[in-house]
Amino acid sequence: MKLSRKKLSGGAFLERFREQIRHCTRCAGCLPACPTFGATGEETLSPRGRMMLIGAALDGELPLTRSFARRLSQCLLCGACTAACPSGVNVSEAILAMREELARSGSSRLARAGSRRLFGVRPDARRRLLDFGGSVYGKAPNRDFVPWRYQDRKRAIPHPGRNPLEEVIAETTPAEGGPSESSVRRVALFPGCATSLFYQQTASAAARVLARAGMDVVFPRGLSCCGQPLRSIGETAAAASLARKNLDILRRCHAGTVVTVCSSCALTLARAASRQEAEFQVSDIHALLAGMRTGGAPPAEPATTSDMKLAGPGTADPLPPARTRVAWHDPCHLGRGLGLIREPREIIAGLPGVEYVEAGELRCCGGGLLCLQHYGLALKIGIPRAEELAATGAMIVATGCPGCRMQLEDMLGRLDSDIRVMHTVELLDGGWAGKPIGNQKD
Ligand code: SF4
Ligand code: SF4
Repeated sequence: MKLSRKKLSGGAFLERFREQIRHCTRCAGCLPACPTFGATGEETLSPRGRMMLIGAALDGELPLTRSFARRLSQCLLCGACTAACPSGVNVSEAILAMREELARSGSSRLARAGSRRLFGVRPDARRRLLDFGGSVYGKAPNRDFVPWRYQDRKRAIPHPGRNPLEEVIAETTPAEGGPSESSVRRVALFPGCATSLFYQQTASAAARVLARAGMDVVFPRGLSCCGQPLRSIGETAAAASLARKNLDILRRCHAGTVVTVCSSCALTLARAASRQEAEFQVSDIHALLAGMRTGGAPPAEPATTSDMKLAGPGTADPLPPARTRVAWHDPCHLGRGLGLIREPREIIAGLPGVEYVEAGELRCCGGGLLCLQHYGLALKIGIPRAEELAATGAMIVATGCPGCRMQLEDMLGRLDSDIRVMHTVELLDGGWAGKPIGNQKD
């Protein structure tokens, strides 16, 4: 990144966040909650330290150096600090705003255009871009960014699906028992980038499970990234433009609910839908399924768990005869962002053949952009979480975010664990079989 040593010039950014930063009393209440501070013990990698850095930049006392930008880019945006702060300081929003400022004032035009291109194009075009980038990158002598090998181990990186998701999932999957005319029972499935590219089985399982539960499932064509990755690197305008395009497509589905299988997508889309007063509600699939378990809407008619046949068998393998130990990992955006803590646990624990084991609430795994940009730090956060999960004796870890899944598969592989990681909806679809993650050494 071509960062100058220039100082912030002020303007709207100053007005929005000076007040927030002034409210930070430096009490240290947020420090124990912060994963990057916990992993390093460095004050400048803590919420308090980051607020002080931003404050100093706002006051013109600190130039916008590469080291300044790195400390801000190492924040996971997990929201733990904001939840812990007794003074109500919204640290994550201040960091996002500072990243926007850094993107505007410091990033190279080429890097910004590249990011916008990568996340802005449709999923099939992005697959081609990634294929091309991967083949070039694989031959590059210096691969510090996204290292494929680290400390003598290969990273476990999932392979992209062979075909675009639009060729894998039909545009409509009618409810089992016949299609409904009601928009209340029609849901539009928003898979998100990582699911479309790497975990297509999650989206397929979601379509089947929802159809079995009495939903007509529409999988709209032409959807883009939800915009979260661009927003988190400071490309706010480009992210907003993607959100508008997606909402236009989703409106044309005439569905009562847009359902996602990625909690970050759910949070981002829900905010955009609320800003633009969309006619539909946005729901993470855990919230939707939990609502159905308790007879909530949708579906319109009261239902019980057994009526809805939420659990397998789907097209995958039937539920195993013996009890299978399953642990749950809270994605930050699902648990803290959407407040869904109890619901996924209840869904999993209610599955026949499952023995639910608790692995601790809201422990960040260090996934997402951090494990792409700062792998060493992501390891320091991810390995302890993987150890915690392995200690439960679980055979399967369920989660609700493809970014967490990618990170946990990699971290558990580093521990030589054969625990499998999957989305909750794959469990419901009966997707139990498959190769263990195994040893990633070669
Ligand atoms: S951000 Fe909140 S919790 Fe952290 S030091 Fe400031 S006032 Fe205290
Ligand atoms: S959002 Fe998470 S990683 Fe970032 S400063 Fe807050 S607690 Fe730390």
